[in-house]
Amino acid sequence: MALFVQKYGGTSVGTVERIEAVADKVKRFRDEGHDLVVVLSAMSGETNRLIGLAKAIQDEPCPREMDVLVSTGEQVTIALLCMALEKRGLSARSYTGGQVRILTDSAHTKARIQDIEVDGMRADLSAGRVVVVAGFQGMDAKGNITTLGRGGSDTTGVALAAALKADECQIYTDVDGVYTTDPRVVEGATRLDRITFEEMLEMASLGSKILQIRSVEFAGKYKVPLRVLSSFVDGPGTLITIEDEDTVEKPVISGIAFNRDEAKLTVIGVPDIPGVASRILGPISRANIEVDMIVQNVAADKTTDFTFTVHRNDFVKAEAILRQVCAELGAREVVGNNKIAKVSIVGVGMRSHAGVATKMFDSLAQDNINIQMISTSEIKVSVVIAEKYLELAVRGLHSAFELDKADTVSE
Ligand code: ASP
Ligand code: MG
Repeated sequence: MALFVQKYGGTSVGTVERIEAVADKVKRFRDEGHDLVVVLSAMSGETNRLIGLAKAIQDEPCPREMDVLVSTGEQVTIALLCMALEKRGLSARSYTGGQVRILTDSAHTKARIQDIEVDGMRADLSAGRVVVVAGFQGMDAKGNITTLGRGGSDTTGVALAAALKADECQIYTDVDGVYTTDPRVVEGATRLDRITFEEMLEMASLGSKILQIRSVEFAGKYKVPLRVLSSFVDGPGTLITIEDEDTVEKPVISGIAFNRDEAKLTVIGVPDIPGVASRILGPISRANIEVDMIVQNVAADKTTDFTFTVHRNDFVKAEAILRQVCAELGAREVVGNNKIAKVSIVGVGMRSHAGVATKMFDSLAQDNINIQMISTSEIKVSVVIAEKYLELAVRGLHSAFELDKADTVSE
């Protein structure tokens, strides 16, 4: 007997039939004797529909009213699931975030959880009830409804699991786990049995958008075992957990992440004097443009080249800012390229293995792919390449690091 927090995403509760299917699943866990707290998203498309209604009235609606509006999507699904559970003879009760007393700060539309009251949920669980909670929402100290940002139901799930010290937080979604890379790009991509929080954060921030990143951080902080699994096909999914000291045979690389949404900007011929990096990037960050990789060359002739990447959507804005900065600095010119992509190999096993980067570069060289930028951290190596070589690069790396065989067990 265990206590599970199960979160079902929008597609899993997208129709009445699917809500009934979730109820069947919940019933199976109850029949096995487990205690369950279920967190639901709104029906798929519903949150977007609500946002659309608001935008039809005002371009920038009041954030407080936005929260009152968008939090309704989850209120619909929790009630319907409880009805489906009651129909199956289970006792269940639905709660909005405020009713649970998921207390947040007052940052409407992007609130952060501060405290969760667990006594009520515990009482329900002891009385044999399934507790069904609306994801994505909470309440501030004054009782205002708040929401946690898009995809926030994942965070609700993890936060409840942490507060209740649940045995596992299970995120049911439309994929059956975390893969070595995107199966749409590499046919031989395999599901990972487990991945560490750190690796998952790298994979998530690099474009494997399965979970809200914040929920993974939260789970890591409270060491909540987090499992991603499909609500449509049975299977073990992928366990996201702390690094297991006992796993001797850790793969060097767990996965390959990539991101097409990048653009690269270079200021050429920047004077090699103190303060230049700050004068280049200051106006960029003041314009709320996020910078990812940064590379500055050795100055050969008292000038240097300064390159960085931004999201492709920010490319034009960043370029305009740089032209201005370029003139002020007396730099030579600004060149940009928005047809680039970033490919990263990720793995905690890298810490104890030399030559991982070299192996990556060898693989790219064999496919005749030019590397434009490189950056590394303890558990990842990222390169920027021309976008048109992205698929080729990912496939080559996937086989170079033998990820196609990750699921094979041999004696
Ligand atoms: N319904 C919210 C959204 O679409 C929260 C969630 O599903 O996680 O972003
Ligand atoms: Mg989601």
